[in-house]
Amino acid sequence: MEIKAIRGFNDILPDEIGKWQFVERTAREVFEGFGFSEIRIPILERTELFSRGIGEATDIVEKEMYTFSDRSGNSLTLRPEATASIARAYLEHQVYSFDPVAKYYYIGPMFRYERPQKGRYRQFYQIDAEVFGVENPMVDAEIILMLVHFLKKVGLENLELQINTLGCRKCRPRYREELKAFMKNISFQLCEDCQRRLETNPLRIFDCKVETCKSAITEAPQVTNYTCPDCQGHFDRVKEYLAVAGLSYILNPKMVRGLDYYTRTAFEVVSYQLGSQNAVTGGGRYDNLFQEIGGPDIPGIGFAVGIERLVSLLPAGKEFVSSPHLFVAALGEGPAREAYKLVYELHLQGIQAELDYERRSLKSQMRRADKLKARFALILGEDELKRGTAMLRNMETKSQEEVPLNDLTSTLKQKLAI
Ligand code: ATP
Ligand code: MG
Repeated sequence: MEIKAIRGFNDILPDEIGKWQFVERTAREVFEGFGFSEIRIPILERTELFSRGIGEATDIVEKEMYTFSDRSGNSLTLRPEATASIARAYLEHQVYSFDPVAKYYYIGPMFRYERPQKGRYRQFYQIDAEVFGVENPMVDAEIILMLVHFLKKVGLENLELQINTLGCRKCRPRYREELKAFMKNISFQLCEDCQRRLETNPLRIFDCKVETCKSAITEAPQVTNYTCPDCQGHFDRVKEYLAVAGLSYILNPKMVRGLDYYTRTAFEVVSYQLGSQNAVTGGGRYDNLFQEIGGPDIPGIGFAVGIERLVSLLPAGKEFVSSPHLFVAALGEGPAREAYKLVYELHLQGIQAELDYERRSLKSQMRRADKLKARFALILGEDELKRGTAMLRNMETKSQEEVPLNDLTSTLKQKLAI
């Protein structure tokens, strides 16, 4: 029986990889320009990092984690997100003792046991950015500006930035109680999951994707009516800083984000082209996370972009597949050997050259050059070889010229403008 990949785990083949590389390259350029440094973290962590960090009563921890025991009986989990791991690394290496302010970004796969469908997979990739150690709302606005700039630079249009505030330890409990009371009254209209969330984490009901739940809660009390003066002041300044930079936003008091650790500012960037999986990215402030995982009181804010969803939104017509600069077609034994040597020399010079391994006819070699979308073809025959030359064909214009082989590299570099 043919062995297939696990459901929800995807291969990304070379004809798609150009888009991925473009997105990742743009992220690196933009984030580094904003003063963020790359960090690399492990894929596996101790389970309690996520159960404590993300929160026991979240969908991720309740039902989406890949958790298993290793051979020594430790409970390990394939990370469902990166923030908790990055925070752990920052604590573990006591980065804060040198400078509490750290700006990190990370690109890599995450794992969640969700029902696979378009835009929702069990292994998916995220681009993450986090700022630790700053409470000032200036940084909330700054990270949102960076995110929107990145999405625009990648080529996304028709984006909508939604923001909300979720309050803090002081004001959220009262809101939670009010919300619980409201939800209890309408609980007969809620799905089974939400009935359970009502007790454990009523805010999560806002995140429910079931239509009947969505319509049952349209009149629910809004968090923004319960925030304490400090949280309100913080949020006002975030909005002010966004306005100063000329970035427009929509207030969405129902956006609560799926993770427990969020406090104060929460944001999402939504694209309406995506259907039901319409969130490309989301993030927020998490001023309690460090304490939850055993560290000192350090504030943080960050976001995660889903690469699969982002790639699916890239504008059509942009050429992402890289094609060879040159295809070398050889006719006969001597020219084939010369082609092999030539291609090796070109590779050393950074010129993408391909050759035919099958010794086929000139016609079929040229068909392959076409198929690969090579920009030039070099035709190497016995007679030309004796003269130390070859025919160079521009595959687009179809024009041909005889060129000397001894300075082929510079001829090509000039023609390719590389
Ligand atoms: P959703 O509401 O769609 O489940 P989420 O709130 O769980 O998203 P986050 O945990 O905030 O998502 O992750 C940030 C981004 O990662 C999302 O906006 C999305 O682009 C992407 N993402 C999350 N889960 C998946 C998944 N299972 N498959 C593909 N991308 C995902
Ligand atoms: Mg989710």
